Amino acid sequence: MRVTPWLYVVGSRQFGLSSRYDCHVYALRAAAGTLLIDSGSGLGHERIVANLREEFGADLGPGTILLTHRHPDHIGGAARLSAELGWPVVASALAAPVVMAGDEVGSGLAGAQAQGGYPAEMRLTPCAVARQFDDDDVLELEGFSLRAIRVRGHSSDSFAFLFTHGGRRGLIVGDIVFYGGVVGLINAPDSSLAAYCEDMGKLAGLGVDVLLAGHGLFTLAGGQRHIDMAREELSKGFVPRTIGQGDLIF
Ligand SMILES: [Zn+2]
Repeated sequence: MRVTPWLYVVGSRQFGLSSRYDCHVYALRAAAGTLLIDSGSGLGHERIVANLREEFGADLGPGTILLTHRHPDHIGGAARLSAELGWPVVASALAAPVVMAGDEVGSGLAGAQAQGGYPAEMRLTPCAVARQFDDDDVLELEGFSLRAIRVRGHSSDSFAFLFTHGGRRGLIVGDIVFYGGVVGLINAPDSSLAAYCEDMGKLAGLGVDVLLAGHGLFTLAGGQRHIDMAREELSKGFVPRTIGQGDLIF
């Protein structure tokens, strides 16, 4: 699904592009190649590959798969997509051990399966990580220059990536913050309201136009407003609006 000449969505439960267990999989396209953001669950990887070929042709050229955090709906497709496309996987030093081991406990897959969140037969395939990064590293990938910003809260290994392209400032946020200022606090051992309160200030004042979240709506303009709404909620003495509550989509 083409959004702009450089931004595509090639996997997604909510847009009906791939498996119902997939996060949004964005493809950022520059002359140098394609930067794939997250990989979906692995249950819809054939459709993601087909969507990429439909958009860009049979010969996809060079590319890289960049992972935002270690949850199964974001990393589960990495091994299959990397093998099929020949594109290396880049993950944080915090997520890399889980990705490389196919760690079903560490990724949260086993716990979510016990709650019925994923099919019992879903497995996590170990996946090589070609490059690891840490907080504040700048990644030069496929013509995009991205600054990695660690923001704990949804998970302890969640990263946002700040970039500028086509005259716009963009922020890839995974499950850190969603459209409308909704946060990604979940009932899991690795999710923490206190960590959210400590780290969300790192996303203040970035002047974000394009906000690309792992679920729900995305926007090409005014992205900072949604980040600031979440920061405002986190500054109060109540639990903020978060995914999974009422009709807040996930
Ligand atoms: Zn997540």
